[in-house]
Amino acid sequence: MNILANLYLWIKGKFTEEPKSLLVHNTSISEILPYPVPEQYKNISMKDLNGSYAYPGFIDTHTHSFEGGLYSLGVDLSTAKNIEDILALLSAANSKKTKDEFIFAWQMDETLLKERRFPTLTELNSAVPDKPLILRRIDGHSCMLNSYARNMVTGLKTKEEILRGGENDYAVHFFHKRLNDEAILNAYRAAANIGLQAGFTSLHTMIGDAENSINHYELIRDNLNKFPLRFILYPQSFNIKAALEAGANRIGGCILADGSIGSETAAISEPYLNSNSWGVLYQSDEFWQKFITEASQHRLQVAIHCIGDRAIRQINNVYKSLASTADLRHQLIHCEITPDNLIEEIATSGAVPVMQPNFDYLWGGENGFYAKKIGIKRSRIMNRFATLLKSGITITGGSDWYITSLNAAHSLRAAINHHNPLERLSTAQAIDIYTKNAAWLNSEEDTYGKIKIGYKADLSIYSHPIENETTELYYLIRDGEIKYAAI
Ligand SMILES: [Zn+2]
Ligand SMILES: [Zn+2]
Repeated sequence: MNILANLYLWIKGKFTEEPKSLLVHNTSISEILPYPVPEQYKNISMKDLNGSYAYPGFIDTHTHSFEGGLYSLGVDLSTAKNIEDILALLSAANSKKTKDEFIFAWQMDETLLKERRFPTLTELNSAVPDKPLILRRIDGHSCMLNSYARNMVTGLKTKEEILRGGENDYAVHFFHKRLNDEAILNAYRAAANIGLQAGFTSLHTMIGDAENSINHYELIRDNLNKFPLRFILYPQSFNIKAALEAGANRIGGCILADGSIGSETAAISEPYLNSNSWGVLYQSDEFWQKFITEASQHRLQVAIHCIGDRAIRQINNVYKSLASTADLRHQLIHCEITPDNLIEEIATSGAVPVMQPNFDYLWGGENGFYAKKIGIKRSRIMNRFATLLKSGITITGGSDWYITSLNAAHSLRAAINHHNPLERLSTAQAIDIYTKNAAWLNSEEDTYGKIKIGYKADLSIYSHPIENETTELYYLIRDGEIKYAAI
């Protein structure tokens, strides 16, 4: 038993007026006590947490933590302002690595570069001549390889320097699959530490090549207790048999119904502004009907990436046809473009939109990237957090890290300060989508997501309430133990 003392507690949508103390027994909250702690508890080990603000441990319901961890050990290109910056960052990495060591570079956004283009193959080769280099665009939907890496990959069909769609996925997974167990565990260790420092006690994480392989799912499943935070695993593939054999209770993740708005592959019902592309439905209706039906019959929760309204409707229609398995809480990952009539249909199917407030923060608004791609009018029916909740739909919050950065306070404020005032969440709603609703998504609403007697003692503790821009993460508590302390 131990006591976590002197905390304002977030309970039922607000903070307690007085600081309180939590008695922890067997990793769960067994009593909520006043502060100072009454005399009879004085011989129990106690940690005074300085009158800071405790939320239920934040849960990010959609990350690619393997890539996040792996790339955190690689080259972050988000600060590059031009091609020269990119080449300088790559050269610096090149000189630090030994021969044949992979260099993963990520977060390249050519729209923010002076030249507004990807580097050329010749430029990449000049910076990294003799080691394999994989450079990924910020949205993960396109990438480049230097010639050294390109010569290693067997099975690429295109001659294009920039790899998109299936060729992009193929190349990236080709290199991921060549890492050994220790390198994989190291990536998750790095991810777990980043997660804690970002304010999360749990991360839902996608594992697998989004096609046939669940990659290192079993390795992570067998090592879950080695990480300071809790990973909730998704076998991200179409391989139902492999998911069942691995003991999973779900399948999918960013298995793609469509692509991304940046790559103009998100399937929408009117064309993109400056092209006649309508995006791409990657699979037929029949394919999804068969896959989702079979998964549901095996009691697997299904999660599918769908961004454009055509893709969301395609997947939601299948969920709707399987309404008797709605208790599985099937997921619509991203669920970005939702006209009113589609929202009504989602309310009927019982599907759960797993949404990314950071997407609106980065790309929303009248002058934002989305508006440039599909126009201001359609950008207003994107990321409709408030309307979805108002329609009785349970939504949850995720970052899609490594696509966007991992930071609970930042994501919560993105939901509270949505570009579209009609879609802003109240503070309490924003907290809910990262706590209560997130726990519900994993059918653990009776043990996680609330500060309540009998619930796990998982807490994200800050210097100030989260809506305050200057707030700092002070402590992360998991199972009643301090896993991270900033002060
Ligand atoms: Zn996705
Ligand atoms: Zn994703």
